[in-house]
Amino acid sequence: MSIEKFTLEKVLSVHRWTNTLFSFTMTRPAHFKFTAGQFARIGLKVGDDLVVRAYSVVSSPFDETLEFFSIVVPDGAFTSNLQHLKVGDELYLEKIPYGYLTLARYQLPLPQDLWLLGTGTGLAPFLSILQDFETWQKYSKIQLVYSVRTQSELAYVERIQEIAETFGEGHTGFKFIPIITRDPSAQLHERLPVLIANGELEKVAELDFNADTSHIMLCGNPEMVEDTKEALKARGLKMNRRGEGNIAVENYW
Ligand code: NAP
Repeated sequence: MSIEKFTLEKVLSVHRWTNTLFSFTMTRPAHFKFTAGQFARIGLKVGDDLVVRAYSVVSSPFDETLEFFSIVVPDGAFTSNLQHLKVGDELYLEKIPYGYLTLARYQLPLPQDLWLLGTGTGLAPFLSILQDFETWQKYSKIQLVYSVRTQSELAYVERIQEIAETFGEGHTGFKFIPIITRDPSAQLHERLPVLIANGELEKVAELDFNADTSHIMLCGNPEMVEDTKEALKARGLKMNRRGEGNIAVENYW
């Protein structure tokens, strides 16, 4: 990995949600332009090596800083070092962003209903997408569905409300639907493919999946992405290819 592809940026804040989940912000160089939903490649020096990982940007494309949401992977070469991050530390940032989990990829069907289905840190790109005014202008219904294992892992809840109030002011079609899979007392506690197959998700959303009107984005646990994709296909929804179709996906690790 050639180091010339990176700039060195400064950590501005660190927020710890749980022992294994944290968010951080860092300086954003003027050349780093991205579309909501894209990811950055962040590098850390571990000994003499530059270890690099992909991180979806949480921030709005209009923010002056960059925010990321991370899990600590036990014994992971990257996150076990990153977890000790503090204000003032330096991180490498690749100069260009990547990824196609963006609303621009959809041509048909025309924008109407947007479903953002994420697990764990796979929430990140959706926070960026929701901090883009265009999202709220284009879609009359927006469902943010966020699946975590326990209540304590449900990060960003207040921020989601703030984002909806700020960016979605006057918009009446937004719903935030949390799923807590290891808490039987939670209103929704089964995995996404089950909730899709049994119709419970649509019931809570008060909206049906529809091949003619739905744009559905999946991000997070690769098995969730695979299983949810199949559950949606069984309902007649199609993968988005060359602009056409309902489902767009990003594996998060
Ligand atoms: P997770 O295990 O991915 O669980 C998050 C949510 O996804 C839970 O509600 C979980 O339900 C659900 N889920 C898991 N598999 C699913 C499937 N096949 N279909 C539908 N839903 C599914 O939790 P995490 O905290 O984000 O990650 C946990 C593990 O992944 C850790 O061991 C971590 O080391 C590893 N990992 C994560 C990342 C990352 O960037 N997020 C990177 C590398 C490794 P259940 O409660 O039913 O499982």
